[in-house]
Amino acid sequence: MSVVTRYAPSPTGPLHIGGARTALFNWALARHHGGRFLLRVEDTDRARSTPEAERLVLEALHWLGLEHDPLGESRDIPRQSERFGHYAELIGPLLENGHAYRCTCTREDLAAMREQAVERGSPKRGYDGTCRDKGIGADSPLPFCIRLRVPEHGPTRFDDLIAGPSGEDSSQVDDFVIARTDGTPVYHLAVVVDDHDMGVTHVLRGREHMLSTPRQLLLCDALGFEPPAFAHLPLLVGPTGKKLSKREADASVQSYRDRGFPPEAVLNFLARLGWGHGDLETFDMKTFAELFTLEGVGKSPSQVDEAKLSAVSQHWMQQLPADRLRESVQPFLDAEAGRPVTIDAGLETLIGLLRPRSDTFADMARRARFYLLDQIEFDPKAARKHLKVSVREGLARLREALHESPDWSTEGIERVMDAVREASGLSLGQLAQPTRVSVTGTAASPGIFETLELLGRERTLERLDRALAHIDAGPA
Ligand code: GLU
Repeated sequence: MSVVTRYAPSPTGPLHIGGARTALFNWALARHHGGRFLLRVEDTDRARSTPEAERLVLEALHWLGLEHDPLGESRDIPRQSERFGHYAELIGPLLENGHAYRCTCTREDLAAMREQAVERGSPKRGYDGTCRDKGIGADSPLPFCIRLRVPEHGPTRFDDLIAGPSGEDSSQVDDFVIARTDGTPVYHLAVVVDDHDMGVTHVLRGREHMLSTPRQLLLCDALGFEPPAFAHLPLLVGPTGKKLSKREADASVQSYRDRGFPPEAVLNFLARLGWGHGDLETFDMKTFAELFTLEGVGKSPSQVDEAKLSAVSQHWMQQLPADRLRESVQPFLDAEAGRPVTIDAGLETLIGLLRPRSDTFADMARRARFYLLDQIEFDPKAARKHLKVSVREGLARLREALHESPDWSTEGIERVMDAVREASGLSLGQLAQPTRVSVTGTAASPGIFETLELLGRERTLERLDRALAHIDAGPA
């Protein structure tokens, strides 16, 4: 059997972490089986769906590289809003064959039913079937909706491919509305019809949709459709096992992109949310598709821990080909410098040196700041700690020695620093840290000799002079 999966976003906002994981797992399941991964837009909720949200969702999927397969000949993405007529056409036959009926109960009637059920202590609080056998026709003078006649022993239980035996007895399900009084079909009908028409074999979606599945199975049954297999992904929770915080839950794919995470890292991070393969932590998407099975997805909630994203991202920062890295870091360098930056040989070398230390493109650009800017600011904490009167003499000697040195190579600079620290009775750290703060403004940089070599003699001397002046000015 060929596997057909789909991702079916409701375009009511950007693509968040949960939706992105669902899309990724659907992609992987299809790729693993050499099947197809389809996309459709579930914009039945006309009030909450917006073209801008749809654009953001599609942009996010594209950035992640989760390209969908064409549906038949067409690359167009089906939209439910364009298929209302088709859903509505299917309701007539359901009325004719008795799977559905017209109901004229009002909102007040429903409220009264609920009250009575509470009084009786009945667990069923919904519709009580008042209009079931009234045989209300299309010519009814009262407005009517259409309800599904839920059979006593309907197929509402299912074997979830992740959660195991699920669903509930059909006696627990009320006759639910499938078309509103204005004739518009409801969302569940649209989902079932679309999955059928698209040939979807596996519905893989978030746990929050699990309660809808019995109704969707009943609809499949009434329409004579073979139902797809269902698999509901475990919930996402915060690092402490509690509900995701608003900030975590609302983290859009674009926000990860804008924070400088490579898409490879975000995908790798998403893949580990509920899926595992031994102790494999870092892998590319080809490997993921090869290894991905629903058996590998756990039943318990998966923890979203951004520290893991950083760790995975640090790994990916080292794997990216040099040209990809250059291209991706460019906008972050521009933003850091406040002007378009040209990546010259020096900056290229610096990028290479910063690679193992950086966990995002933004982090890399921040670390390159000392090179990008003409004037650096001293980080106050680093300056307090390292630019002290006790090192003034050593720094001043270093400045002179570097000024005199004929050789501005890493080795040449190392020799000069060695000589100065011996003459001043300082350890390497005692001289290197103040030097680092002097020339980069911070206490962290690549190796000090490489850093000075990159900066060049003129900028190094200038910055050492500023650091000496800073020391002379005394504590702020
Ligand atoms: N449109 C739903 C959502 O965005 C998905 C429903 C489904 O996958 O069946 O959450």
